[in-house]
Amino acid sequence: MSELGTADAVLRLLLDGQPRTRAELIDLSGLARSTVTGRIEALLAAGLVVPSGEAASTGGRPPARFRFNPTARLILAADVGATHVSVALTDLTGQILDRTTRQLNIAEGPEVVLDAVARSGRSLLRAARRSPEDLAGTCVGLPGPVEHSTGRPNHPPIMPGWDSYDVAGRLSRELPGPVLVDNDVNIMALGEHTAEYADVEHLLFVKVATGIGAGVISGGRLHRGAQGAAGDIGHIQAPGRTELCRCGNTGCLEAVASAAALAAKLENAATSRDIVELVRAGNTAATTAVRQAGREIGTVLAAAVSLLNPSVIVVGGSLSQAGDSLLAGIREAIYARSLPLATTDLRIVPTKAGQDAALRGAAALVVQHQLTAS
Ligand SMILES: [Zn+2]
Repeated sequence: MSELGTADAVLRLLLDGQPRTRAELIDLSGLARSTVTGRIEALLAAGLVVPSGEAASTGGRPPARFRFNPTARLILAADVGATHVSVALTDLTGQILDRTTRQLNIAEGPEVVLDAVARSGRSLLRAARRSPEDLAGTCVGLPGPVEHSTGRPNHPPIMPGWDSYDVAGRLSRELPGPVLVDNDVNIMALGEHTAEYADVEHLLFVKVATGIGAGVISGGRLHRGAQGAAGDIGHIQAPGRTELCRCGNTGCLEAVASAAALAAKLENAATSRDIVELVRAGNTAATTAVRQAGREIGTVLAAAVSLLNPSVIVVGGSLSQAGDSLLAGIREAIYARSLPLATTDLRIVPTKAGQDAALRGAAALVVQHQLTAS
């Protein structure tokens, strides 16, 4: 992967998909003609760049053009949830080529779950008639805190057996290329930002599902904080609440407003899907509970709005499919608790990337790591 790892300036110029001539690449990069020629040769040999017709002639032989070849390498993007494992094969622009999802409880432990990730990845590669050596890298999103410097889960509350487990080391035994590991909400934020809001500098992505968390895009970049714990809003105390949380504290937002917390209080609901169906069917108790959950989440988010001044807050996760009740509660609390300047241009919207957000983000992380790192 050295030709990817060095991520040279010529390749970066071609990542936008625009075909360019050698002369244009020399102009744009400011590199010497011999350097650009050498890099184009190397990229052609690696398949990362392909000839793309000829530019209009200005007299004499028309100059050849070159373009980025997004399927020269592929990426494995894995989204591991509390009860499911989704794995996608994407090209080098993060477009999903194929995917597979299976139900699997994360409490089965890292060996079982990561074995499923590796097996799904290999079968997607086989179906695409590509070899593991074609991989540019793999990224796995996990539903718990991940220490960024090591890629290891750190005291994840719903992941018994995963604490400090070497996720990347385990997958590297079977999959060539680098293996990146991140918190699922971080990659959802990155995926939503990359796919739908690339021009937005300050975005918060809030996941409301079995748990609650947020991913922070600040200055156009994913912001993880010192250890990787930035955005973990699920364990901020909701004002005046005392419910016991699985983390051991009381009154955590997650213990009050997550799908798990609501299901415990509602009749006929065990999962977020049950709650969503009750709301869609017009069940008053479920609709009221979801709207109140939205207010609790909005109250905590109002503090985040004051700290970070985002221009977009995206609400995703399985409970977001309950629709307007959740968003209405969130909006109500944020507008009531924020200063006008912070909310003048603030949009609070449902996810557009939906279930693809995590997979798109996982792919984007590999692309950033391999192709655009300077
Ligand atoms: Zn907690």
